[in-house]
Amino acid sequence: MHEPEPVNLEVWLDACRRAARAIGEMLAERSTATERAAETGTTGSGGDHTLEIDRAAESIVFTELERLHEQGIRFRAVSEERGVVEFGTGPLRVVIDPIDGSLNAKRGLSHHALSVAVATGETMADVRFGYVYDFGPAEEWWAATGAGAVLNGRRLDASVPEGRSPDGRIEVVGIESADPRWLAGAIDPLVEHAYRLRALGAIAPSLCQVAAGRFDALLSLRDCRAVDAAAAQLIVREAGGLVAFPRFEDRLGAPLDLVPHSPVVAARTPATLTQLEAMCPRR
Ligand SMILES: [Mg+2]
Repeated sequence: MHEPEPVNLEVWLDACRRAARAIGEMLAERSTATERAAETGTTGSGGDHTLEIDRAAESIVFTELERLHEQGIRFRAVSEERGVVEFGTGPLRVVIDPIDGSLNAKRGLSHHALSVAVATGETMADVRFGYVYDFGPAEEWWAATGAGAVLNGRRLDASVPEGRSPDGRIEVVGIESADPRWLAGAIDPLVEHAYRLRALGAIAPSLCQVAAGRFDALLSLRDCRAVDAAAAQLIVREAGGLVAFPRFEDRLGAPLDLVPHSPVVAARTPATLTQLEAMCPRR
C-alpha cells in the first residue's frame, strides 16, 4: 500500500547543513581541553562514556529531525547515544553519528565529523543519501544514489587512479580501530601489501579519504557500527570506489542498527578490495 518514501535530497541536505553549522558553533564555544573532555556521567548505546559535546551534538541533530517530522516526513532514527527513536512509521531509516571521532574532538585533533545516512531499507545497500561534515578541515562530503559524490560543492572524480608503490604495494592504506593489539594481529598482511599506513581516528572521514583518492584503501581492524560507516560508504561508492563489510556474504548486507557487525574495507579497485577483505581479522 505504501510506496517507499522518496528521499528528498534538498530537504535532507538542508537539514544536515543546519545541524553541521550548529554543531560547529557548539564546538567553537567549547574550545578548551576541560570543556571538550567533560562527561555526562552516562554511557551511550555503543557503551562509551558519553561526552557533553556528544550529547549536545546529538540534541542539535534531533532538533532538525523533529523539524522534518513536523513537516510530515516519517522515519526511524538510529543514533549513537539515544539509540532507536521512532518519528512515525515508514521505510525510511536515518542513521546518525553526531560526532564520529569523539576522542579526536575531545583532544582537539583534526578529524571529527557529523555523519548522517538516509536509507529506504535495512542495510548499507539501501542508503540513498549520505552526509559527512568533517569539522577539522571544514570539509563537507555528501552523496546521493545516482548523483555522484560531492566535496565542498565540487563533484568528486570517479576515475581517480589507485596508487601503488614501485614494488606493487598499496601506496596509502588508512587503518581504523587502531588499538595496537589489533594492529599487531593484522601486521603481517599489512607488511606484505601496504606501503604506508595512516590512522585518522574517525571512520567516516577515513572512508571519505578513499572517496577522494587521498587514501588508496581503508581497513578497520575491528567491527564497526552502522552509525560510523553508513553515510561515508555511499560517498565512497558514488565516487567510484568499492566498499565491503566482509562478515556478510552480500558485501553491503550489514544492517543499519547499533551493533558492531563487521569490519569495513574500502578501495578503488576490485583486486585491492579482495586483498583487504582477506586481511580482516577473524572473530
Ligand atoms: Mg560518535
